Amino acid sequence: MAELAEQITHALERYWSSPIPLTIIVATLVCMGTLVYVFLTNARNAKLRVSLLTGLYSLSIFFWLFLASSLVFCLSIASIVAYREWGIRAAAGGAVLLSFALSAFVSIAVWRRGADRVLRKIPTRGPGPEEAWLVDYVALVGNFEDIALVELRVSESPKPVAMAVSGSRHLVIVSTGLLSSLDRDEVESVVTHELMHIKNHDSRFKVFSTVMSRFLFFDPFSKFFDPAVHREREYLADEMSGRTTGKPGSLASALLKIHETANGGPSPLAGLSIVGRDGGIFSRFPPVKERINRLIVLSEILHRST
Ligand SMILES: [Zn+2]
Repeated sequence: MAELAEQITHALERYWSSPIPLTIIVATLVCMGTLVYVFLTNARNAKLRVSLLTGLYSLSIFFWLFLASSLVFCLSIASIVAYREWGIRAAAGGAVLLSFALSAFVSIAVWRRGADRVLRKIPTRGPGPEEAWLVDYVALVGNFEDIALVELRVSESPKPVAMAVSGSRHLVIVSTGLLSSLDRDEVESVVTHELMHIKNHDSRFKVFSTVMSRFLFFDPFSKFFDPAVHREREYLADEMSGRTTGKPGSLASALLKIHETANGGPSPLAGLSIVGRDGGIFSRFPPVKERINRLIVLSEILHRST
């Protein structure tokens, strides 16, 4: 037992004083620092900010997975890491591979199961004749934006809910409460916002990051990066919806109506819906007021250019 403890201590000392793992850690931190700098110096470029934050979030996941995997290798093959010349290279290489393999495993699981998991939680039906116009609209925008086949599903719920779900298939779910409380332009704007989430792979990312944050509950970076990425993705989907429909004002009034009728009671799937509880830097949803302000500015810009 004492011998094993000595082996592990020696393996950890040797590993963490070797240039290979230290270079990997420092390089990751330097990349993160660079992305933070570019992010802070580009305040209003939604597309760039989404890419930067997604990169930061991915690097932060890699950073912690690498640390955890390194520990696993130092413990599981302590005698090799401690005494063999190639031990450190094997452990560091193994840690990098294990980090990528874990991320890939979660990504594939989300890709294959994401939509089905949500569908099991929220009962939906196919659209009826009264929703046929919306099916046509989804097909029209999907075709124009080059989004692979999107299915419209309807949830029989008085709550105004709209969400995009991607897995082995792409779904836009709207509730009957949403359809009855919004006018046609507003419904189209909301549905276009959801289609933009599918186009930008936001719904897959959302499920991926939820699963990852459960794995990496000890990661302090992701507590900031994860909600920040989602907030920027909401702004981007709003902007893209406004530009596609040419009616950002309709999306603004829809957000206001949904926000007012949601009564603040988050549903179990609130994290996937168009409007959620806004609560500062730890919320995945930006403040509705700020979203509406940006849409009004976009409306003025589009109005001036016509
Ligand atoms: Zn959204």
